[in-house]
Amino acid sequence: MRYSQYFIPTVKETPSDAEVVSHKLMLRAGMIRKLAAGIYNYLPLGLRSIRKVEQIVREEMNRAGAIELLMPSVQPAELWQESKRWEQYGKELLRFKDRKDAEFCLGPTHEEVITDLVRREVKSYRQMPLNLYQVQSKFRDEIRPRFGLMRGREFIMKDAYSFDVSSEAADISYDKMYQAYRRIFQRCGLRFRAVEADTGSIGGSSSHEFMVLADSGEDAIVSCTACEYAANVEKAEARLFPPEHAEPRELEKVETPQKRSVEEVTAFLGIPASSLVKTLLCVADGEPVAALVRGDHDLNEIKLKHLLGCEELEMASEEVVERVTGAPVGFAGPVGLKIKIVADLVVQGMKNFVTGGNARDLHFKNVNIGRDFTPALIADIRNVVHGDPCPRCEAGHLEMWRGIEVGHVFKLGTKYSESLRATFLDADGKEQVIFMGCYGIGISRTVAACIEQNHDADGIIFPIPIAPFHCIISAVSTKDAEVMAACDELYRALTAVGVEVLFDDRDERPGSKFKDADLIGIPLRIVVGSKNLAEGKVELKYRKSGEVSLLTLAEAVETVK
Ligand code: ATP
Ligand code: MG
Ligand code: MG
Ligand code: MG
Repeated sequence: MRYSQYFIPTVKETPSDAEVVSHKLMLRAGMIRKLAAGIYNYLPLGLRSIRKVEQIVREEMNRAGAIELLMPSVQPAELWQESKRWEQYGKELLRFKDRKDAEFCLGPTHEEVITDLVRREVKSYRQMPLNLYQVQSKFRDEIRPRFGLMRGREFIMKDAYSFDVSSEAADISYDKMYQAYRRIFQRCGLRFRAVEADTGSIGGSSSHEFMVLADSGEDAIVSCTACEYAANVEKAEARLFPPEHAEPRELEKVETPQKRSVEEVTAFLGIPASSLVKTLLCVADGEPVAALVRGDHDLNEIKLKHLLGCEELEMASEEVVERVTGAPVGFAGPVGLKIKIVADLVVQGMKNFVTGGNARDLHFKNVNIGRDFTPALIADIRNVVHGDPCPRCEAGHLEMWRGIEVGHVFKLGTKYSESLRATFLDADGKEQVIFMGCYGIGISRTVAACIEQNHDADGIIFPIPIAPFHCIISAVSTKDAEVMAACDELYRALTAVGVEVLFDDRDERPGSKFKDADLIGIPLRIVVGSKNLAEGKVELKYRKSGEVSLLTLAEAVETVK
C-alpha cells in the first residue's frame, strides 16, 4: 500500500475530549473518527487491525468446531418478552417502533434470536453438540459511552452460542470455548488473565472473563502467583459477602441525608476529583460515607446520588482514599484497598456505608455493621489484600491487577431454553430442554485494549498479529530515483513473501514520516536513504525495542519475512 494513495489522517495535537491513551492514540493515528457519542467510523487503518482480530477469532472458533452464521441486528420485542428481558434489560436496550407500531430493539446480544432459531431447527439429540457464532455490530445504549472503542454504543462483537443435550455435555462445550479464548488472546500477543466472574444479568451458573492487563482497566482482578486461581473482585467479594449477607432485607429507615454540593465534598476531602477510581467517598449528615462501588460504575453513581440526595457527586482518587482511611494503596490499588476500607471503617465505628458487588442490593438501605457484618466476616475481609495467601492453594499469594474485559464465557444452563421452550427428543424419544452456553469477544474493544497495553510516548506499539501493517518502508527522499527504486524492490520482495507493507512514498520531511510511523505503531520500519544506499544498505528499526541494524536489501527481506 502506498501511503500517498491511502487514507491515514493523523493528528499531531492530543484530542481534548479523549481521556484514555487508546482513545487518544486511535484518533491521532487516524484509526477512528467519532460520528456520535459512542459511535465511530472505523477508518482503513483501524479496520485493518479489527479484521486481524476477527481473523484470529474466526480461525480459533472454527478450529473449536463452532460454525459461523449471521443474525439480524434488528430484533422483535416478542422474543425479548418471552425471555422476560424486555422488562429486565433497562435503558441499555435501544428500542424503537416500525411504521405499523410493532416494537423492536437493536441487538445488544443474541441469546433470544439464536434460541428462537435453534428451537425451530433442532429437534433431536443427534443434532447436538452445536455451536453457532457470528461477528457483528452490537448496540448498547451505554449510560456513559466513553474511552473511544473501549465503551462504545455501537461496537463489534463475536458472539457464540452452544447447544447440548446435558449439563455434562455443555461443560465440555464451555471448556472448548475457554481453551479457544486462551489461544485467541495469546495469538493476539496480549498479556491477559482468565478470571472467575459474576454471572450478572445474563444469568447462568458459571462464567469466566478474559481480562487484558492494563493500568487503565475499569475492572479490578486478583490472581494467584502459584495456582490457576484468578477472579474478578466481584467474585472474590462474593466469598467475603456470602449470599445470606447480601440478601436485601428490611432495615430501619434513615432520614434522607442532607444535600452536599460538589464543592463541599471536595473541600471536605481536600482533593481534585478523579473519575477513574471506582471508589466514592462522600459526606452525608456531616459524617463520611464510603461507597465501595464495583460492577456498573455509572449505575452505582446514580444510585448513590439518589441515596445521598445529592445532585452531583465527586469521585475520590486513590490518594484521597489512602489519606482518609490510612490504608496503604501501593500496588494493591483498588482491590485490596476497597476491601481494607470497609474493614477500617468498620473498626472506626462508622455507621453508614454502602457497597457494590454482590452486596449491591444493600444500596438503598442503612447497613448496620454490628448486625449485618459479623466480626468473623470483618476479619475475613481484612485478609484479602495484595500479597496475602491465595484462598485456593497453600503455596501462592494474591497479586492484584487492573483489567479490561475483552471476552466473557458463560454457562447458561437452561435459562433461555426453558423460557423460550427450546427442547429436543433424547435417545428414548423423551422431550428434554437444551443446555446452552454463550461466549462473547469484544473485537473492537480488543484493539483498544491492545493499545492500552502497548504504547509509549511516541504512539502505538502494535504486536505483529494485530498490527494494521507489519512493516513500513520510509523513503528519506522521494526525489532520489535510486532510493525510490530500492523502495520499490523491497516493497515487491516483501509483498511477495506475504509481508504486509505500507510504503511511505509521501513527499514529506523524514522527521514527520518517522513521527507518523511511530504514532501508528507499525512493528518494523525500513528506512531507505541515499547515504546508506550508496553502500547497498538500508536501516531496519524495531518499533518496540528501538533496536536498529544496517542491512543489505536481501538481508532486510530475510529478517522481516
Ligand atoms: P462491561 O462489563 O465492560 O460493560 P459486559 O460484561 O456488559 O461488558 P458482555 O455482555 O460480557 O459485556 O459482552 C461480551 C464482550 O463485549 C465484553 O467482554 C466486551 O469485550 C464487549 N463489550 C461489551 N460492552 C461493550 C461496549 N460498550 N463497547 C465495546 N465492547 C463492549
Ligand atoms: Mg456492560
Ligand atoms: Mg462486565
Ligand atoms: Mg461481561
